[in-house]
Amino acid sequence: MVKFLDLQGVNAQYRQALIDACTDVIDSGWYIMGEQLKHFEAEFARYCGVKHCIGVANGLDALTLTLRAWKLLGRIAEGDEVLVPANTYIATILAITENKLVPVLVEPEEGSFNLGGNNLREALTSRSRVIMPVHLYGRLADMPAIMAFAKAHDLLVLEDSAQAHGAELNECRAGAWGDASGFSFYPGKNLGALGDAGAITTSDDALAETLRALRNYGSHVKYMNMYQGVNSRLDELQAAVLRVKLQFLDEETKMRQVVAKQYLDGIRNPAIQLPEPGVDGQHAWHLFVVRSDCREQLQQHLSQQGVQTLVHYPVPPHRQQAYPQLGNLSLPLTELLHEQVLSLPMDPTLSASSIQHVIDACNSFQRL
Ligand SMILES: *Cc1c(COP(=O)(O)O)cnc(C)c1O
Repeated sequence: MVKFLDLQGVNAQYRQALIDACTDVIDSGWYIMGEQLKHFEAEFARYCGVKHCIGVANGLDALTLTLRAWKLLGRIAEGDEVLVPANTYIATILAITENKLVPVLVEPEEGSFNLGGNNLREALTSRSRVIMPVHLYGRLADMPAIMAFAKAHDLLVLEDSAQAHGAELNECRAGAWGDASGFSFYPGKNLGALGDAGAITTSDDALAETLRALRNYGSHVKYMNMYQGVNSRLDELQAAVLRVKLQFLDEETKMRQVVAKQYLDGIRNPAIQLPEPGVDGQHAWHLFVVRSDCREQLQQHLSQQGVQTLVHYPVPPHRQQAYPQLGNLSLPLTELLHEQVLSLPMDPTLSASSIQHVIDACNSFQRL
């Protein structure tokens, strides 16, 4: 069987280095807010090309705390509107509503699955304050256009880079485009810890300082609390693991790009619509997502051929029980995408024969 993602196999590549890194932490006697985190933050900031990286407990916190910090800094206020793609993962929306901001769901562009163009313009109101582009499936959104739009309308930009570590456009990586960016290091992400972890990247000194306090009980100085903060810290063990894996991220991204290219070249089936790769390097291929108007049949066929697939995502945020206030929205493209998308196996360790097996299984599919 070709697994959707062989996480055990991915991490097995670095087994000894991971054990050594964890051993160092165990032996150090220091487990939270220490040297490993400091080093990882510096290394990941450098990797992304920004001044600051602030480690937090997960990707959702990275997004939520950034919006909260902007409120504390007086840059946005409760009730402000946040433009966000309607087809994103629920976490992006949760970060907005947790801060009592208003999500304005914007239909994506059909080719890229990402925010952009006329849809943004139509969604703009006098209450719009923030854009949250999501680099969905690993493809960097059209950030030159989004940043120009934000500048013209005086909007803050918070990238959701949880799926796009290392994706780049015009030599600028995910995490360095917006005023700030949230990352997740959930184990299955392109840069994955061995548990939960996340980070914010930014070049804004004031924001970075506020976030450093917020994640640690609102405190800059021990036992002195400036804000009603939270406990959202990135453990030393996870930081040590991430430092090991960051060294191989570019290599893994290249492997993902090789897998994607072979799928793009090899899959030829009118019932399967292939994703658009964008320009070189723009897509970090967190997921390889095809579309089909007979997705259930296709998924069943692939399963019978021993190819494991998943759906990202079966239900859009505005159709979730958690958001009855969004339930009346009509977002036809988003709804269609959720019926049609199917994610093929994507894993930097996929063998040539597994890739070919997936291609053959796709090409042998016939609509009933
Ligand atoms: C994974 C993910 C998140 C949340 O990250 P966690 O670390 O799981 O909290 C946010 N946004 C997107 C687009 C994601 O894929």
